[in-house]
Amino acid sequence: MKISFPYMGTSHIAISYLLSGLGHEVIYPPAPTKKTLSLGVQYAPEFACLPFKILLGTYLEAVEAGADSLVTSGGFGPCRAGYYGELHKRILHDLGYPVEMLVLEPPLRAPVDFYRRVSRLVRPQTSWSNFYRIFRIGWEKLRTLDNLEARLHELRPLTLSQKYLTAAYEQGLEGVRAAQTVDTVKVAGAEAIVEMGNVPLDMTRKPLRIGIIGEIYVVLEPFANHDIEKILGEMGCYIHRSIFLTNWTRDNTLIDGEKDVRASAVPYLNQLVGGHGQNSIGETVRYAENGYDGVIQLAPFTCIPEIVAKSIMPTISRDKGIPVLTLFLDEQTGRAGIETRLEAFLDLLRQKRMQQEAS
Ligand code: SF4
Repeated sequence: MKISFPYMGTSHIAISYLLSGLGHEVIYPPAPTKKTLSLGVQYAPEFACLPFKILLGTYLEAVEAGADSLVTSGGFGPCRAGYYGELHKRILHDLGYPVEMLVLEPPLRAPVDFYRRVSRLVRPQTSWSNFYRIFRIGWEKLRTLDNLEARLHELRPLTLSQKYLTAAYEQGLEGVRAAQTVDTVKVAGAEAIVEMGNVPLDMTRKPLRIGIIGEIYVVLEPFANHDIEKILGEMGCYIHRSIFLTNWTRDNTLIDGEKDVRASAVPYLNQLVGGHGQNSIGETVRYAENGYDGVIQLAPFTCIPEIVAKSIMPTISRDKGIPVLTLFLDEQTGRAGIETRLEAFLDLLRQKRMQQEAS
């Protein structure tokens, strides 16, 4: 198979390793750009959410580059995510690209179907034992990439040189990409953490602490959120992101995954509303209880789960005393507008902190 997949954050490093390790020719999905988005906007239904449009643009670029198969994750519950794969496939077929779409649903929800689809990836080229070996290395890469990113979020508001910190981080990504065994991935990650820690820090700063919540694609993909984590880090804020790909994969592989965060949501929203809607509520409650200064909700325009969550945010905000800023994102959203709203939100958080310190 000439195979490609959605581009989301740094996960492409691990996913491309996994697929090429299974013997497939990987058509590397390009990082999304304005061109990707306008391709998606051109061929997607107008009401489709932003992730759908960016993914469609990515797929079009990948099939143009020669991909004949696309592998992606599915979805369940009352939300459009479960239809993404089928809709993308039909649009691509209508446009004259007869691609095979392999949609991987959570394994415990439909084990036989999951086995059948994974077999399509494994069996034609290799053995299950090789799959296990490659999967372990790919998983370690994913875990290490998440750890490096979390460390980057911790160091950004304290560093005296954004440039060197970014360079050390990117060098770490290269180390993880090049590593070929679980041990060498671990070594590359450990070396990158040391290198990032060598950049001088100002430990007297007391950064605002902000939790980032929302729909998974716009939280994880910097192009979709205008690189909000970098903007906030460089504005001197410590960012804690509620979703990383490893915790999302683990939680969605288990039937009972995310039960703690959902339990936190229950007093405000006691049922699944699709996507990350209920999680957004639970995570906001947890950030408030853990003393965070504020929460930023990232929501694709027309995303029903996040709209439901947003409608409940004022109540949580009042009960728990935590300011919440919701940013709706679509193809019309501009970086300048986001920066202006962030500056105003940070002013509010600083004033609130000063009042707390004075009282
Ligand atoms: S969670 Fe929101 S953005 Fe994602 S598919 Fe569902 S409606 Fe669309």
